[in-house]
Amino acid sequence: MSNAYFTIPKPYNEPVLGYMPGSSERSALKAELARQSETVVTIPLIIGGKEVYTDRWGEVVMPHDHGHVLAKYCIATEKELRMAIDAALEAKSEWAAMPFEHRASVFLKAADMLAGPYRAKINAATMLGQSKTVFQAEIDSACELCDFFRYNAYFASKIYAEQPENSKGVWNRLEYRPLDGFVVAISPFNFTSIGGNLPCSPALMGNTVLWKPSSTAVLSNYFVMRMLMDAGLPAGVINFIPSRGSEVSQHVLTHPMLAGFHFTGSTEVFSGVFTTIGNNIKTYCSYPRLVGETGGKDFIFAHPTADVEALSAAMVRGAYEYQGQKCSAASRAFIPASIWENVKKRVTEMVDSIKIGDVCDFTTFMGAVIDQNSFELIKSHIDLANESNDAEVIFGGYDGSKGYFIKPTLIRALDPDFATMKTELFGPVLTVYVYDDEKLDETLALCDSATAYALTGAIFAKDRNAIIHMEKALSNSAGNFYINDKPTGAVVGQQPFGGARASGTNDKAGSALNLYRWVSPRTIKETFVSPTAIEYPYMCEE
Ligand code: NAD
Repeated sequence: MSNAYFTIPKPYNEPVLGYMPGSSERSALKAELARQSETVVTIPLIIGGKEVYTDRWGEVVMPHDHGHVLAKYCIATEKELRMAIDAALEAKSEWAAMPFEHRASVFLKAADMLAGPYRAKINAATMLGQSKTVFQAEIDSACELCDFFRYNAYFASKIYAEQPENSKGVWNRLEYRPLDGFVVAISPFNFTSIGGNLPCSPALMGNTVLWKPSSTAVLSNYFVMRMLMDAGLPAGVINFIPSRGSEVSQHVLTHPMLAGFHFTGSTEVFSGVFTTIGNNIKTYCSYPRLVGETGGKDFIFAHPTADVEALSAAMVRGAYEYQGQKCSAASRAFIPASIWENVKKRVTEMVDSIKIGDVCDFTTFMGAVIDQNSFELIKSHIDLANESNDAEVIFGGYDGSKGYFIKPTLIRALDPDFATMKTELFGPVLTVYVYDDEKLDETLALCDSATAYALTGAIFAKDRNAIIHMEKALSNSAGNFYINDKPTGAVVGQQPFGGARASGTNDKAGSALNLYRWVSPRTIKETFVSPTAIEYPYMCEE
């Protein structure tokens, strides 16, 4: 044991590489894309540090070429889910007792491995398996995941240093125990970085975890798991269990030692799990911590003084990058009538230059949406808009023959209650409601109340008083609020991310606020000279 307080290296945002023609990162990535395209990876479960194979298998395909199989993965049954719980509980005491500098080192080392030797591998898997362009993969699976590892280690050290006041003769101490039991992390398909962060942030704080990745992100998430093992993560600390959500709910989330649930995904699934846990509340050893970052219907709200060029660029990037499959993607916009024609013209020009297709072609701006279910949901809403008198499709469409391709789609809703103004589609569909310039306040109220969500939102205005007014009117409409910028692209350490209302518990991933949820502090009071009598001074005779 070292007799010293160590300082965690000051974190920094991993620089985004440019992948310019002729660069070494470009040739390394191209080679890795070719290699992974020619391979079918076999993915086992990882339980207690060991590979475990089952008789149930799933396939990972390229969304932009859905006949191309990238990997076959094992799906856990009840037996393996129970094995994973046992492995997590067994690994707990040793991991919790490990000096923090060594726990943190595992994740700091993983960050450097990801920034270096694992970068091309995990970026390529994210591109092929989740249909991200090179830039979208780079900012997600390389940079954001490095940022989560480095910033979380730093924030954890700050938390551990927070101590109460003392009084004369008394030393008060606060220790930050991990939760009493195991944590379950269930991750979404759309960010490899979220896949990595959901199990790792509770693990950093000394917890042991069961990690169920999304069935459509298993390949990249498996490589993250392998990288963590290479970085020295002890057996059983994180158990990788691709499985069916309903079976995890039934067999794992009802276990008496469930101590925490770390989720990112749809509102519907989180509400279902919340209900399951609520219904079982008397069976648990402690009240499980529930952290969920969920859906959104994110907005851009323009004032008549908005800069049309900046607004149009924000609409295009905010709505269509990564096919609108960011929880923060703009999917509804409120545009004043006085600037609408100019905005429509500019957005249409910008979208005309967008190329959609195979993400291995570095000139593409957009790939495909994640799977058939997603494709069908979005398609049905584009069809609805085409058929309805309450909406007009300005541009857009779809083609699912080779890949699940949805073209960037712009709908003008004539009725502010039209379905695509309210429903989260999770695709490249932006619906605009054009409002009368005189009706700013009632349109702001509409924006605030039209959906149950409150994740991200952006306002565009030059007039400072208008900015102040809109910021106030929309104060509960978004957990991440942008002024004259698109509502996507939050950076760890700079814009802590999360929303409230139906968008989640707003525990701000990648910040100290999230890490606090994975500890159960114990207060220790030590008295140096203990009282030996029961009388107080006021009790003395005059
Ligand atoms: P999803 O809810 O379909 O799936 C998320 C995870 O839950 C997957 O691993 C899935 O297998 C699992 N799951 C499904 N049914 C389950 C059940 N009954 N019990 C337990 N687990 C179950 O979401 P998705 O399609 O992967 O991701 C898209 C959604 O995630 C969108 O709604 C998006 O807004 C949201 N999201 C939110 C944030 C945020 O920070 N707020 C970030 C990313 C994604």
